[in-house]
Amino acid sequence: MKQLVIVSGKGGTGKTSLVASFAHLASHHSPRVRAAFADADVDAANLELVLAPDRRESHEFWGKSVAEIDPHRCEGCGICHNVCRFDAVLGPPAQGDSIFYRVDPLACEGCAACFYQCPVQAIRMVPQLAGQWFYSETPYGPLFHAALRPAQENSGKLVSLVKQQALRHAENAGYNLLIVDGPPGIGCPAISAVSGADLVLIVAEPSVAGIHDLHLVLELTMHFHILTLVCINKADIHPQGAAQIESFCAEHDIKVVGSIPFDPSVSEAITRGLPVTVFRPSSPASQHIERIWQRLLPML
Ligand code: SF4
Ligand code: SF4
Repeated sequence: MKQLVIVSGKGGTGKTSLVASFAHLASHHSPRVRAAFADADVDAANLELVLAPDRRESHEFWGKSVAEIDPHRCEGCGICHNVCRFDAVLGPPAQGDSIFYRVDPLACEGCAACFYQCPVQAIRMVPQLAGQWFYSETPYGPLFHAALRPAQENSGKLVSLVKQQALRHAENAGYNLLIVDGPPGIGCPAISAVSGADLVLIVAEPSVAGIHDLHLVLELTMHFHILTLVCINKADIHPQGAAQIESFCAEHDIKVVGSIPFDPSVSEAITRGLPVTVFRPSSPASQHIERIWQRLLPML
């Protein structure tokens, strides 16, 4: 089972449009490939918007536990307030307040220091429902994706879970490629997404910020010794920036596998909920994406 992970330094680079087109090209124009898909951008999952998924399974994702104080047991000693390094225990209360101390669930980091220190066992750790993950079938193959609830953390853990489920399903069902729509940036979710990848494709934008972001993502993939390629999206909008990316990649021995011109067909395809290679196969963007896909195939 090979893993192709598509990432970018920031959101909005056209990564998901590219993944959706790869899904179409893999399933309809690549006889050797049987691909499954994972949307690892769990903070802003949107691959489902262009792959028309038919949801088959939904599962809860439980994140960290948060402390909760039982007001009937609390004796108001203030120990929890003093041991909390995150100022998550609110108190002491105003006189006459029936609740001695309480925990701000948004500030609580779940370290459980208060839980262990409370002399009367008035504190319990309550697991938080942080989101859901899904298995869907699409016209291009199975898709594993997720939705993190607002203000929830642990997106790296959820990315790992989505990838694990996708890999398990793909291996059991005889697929030979997992294509992952990775999250932007270089944080925990990105590390989870590229972990175990055979090939990472970075989608870069030809701007000063784009080059800076590219540099950061490259540091991440180099650190994990993952074969990394680059493609430049909307390369014709800022040819100088595209040339800078190409010379930067040449200096660092990174292959630029292709570039994609600005093409209004891409946003029209998103509006219709289709990969651009399905919506308008002869458009300039579709043709360039197909060329990139053909160059990737021998490495997968
Ligand atoms: S440590 Fe326990 S008893 Fe003391 S204030 Fe906190 S919850 Fe109440
Ligand atoms: S679990 Fe840790 S962070 Fe949360 S209230 Fe208790 S001491 Fe503070």
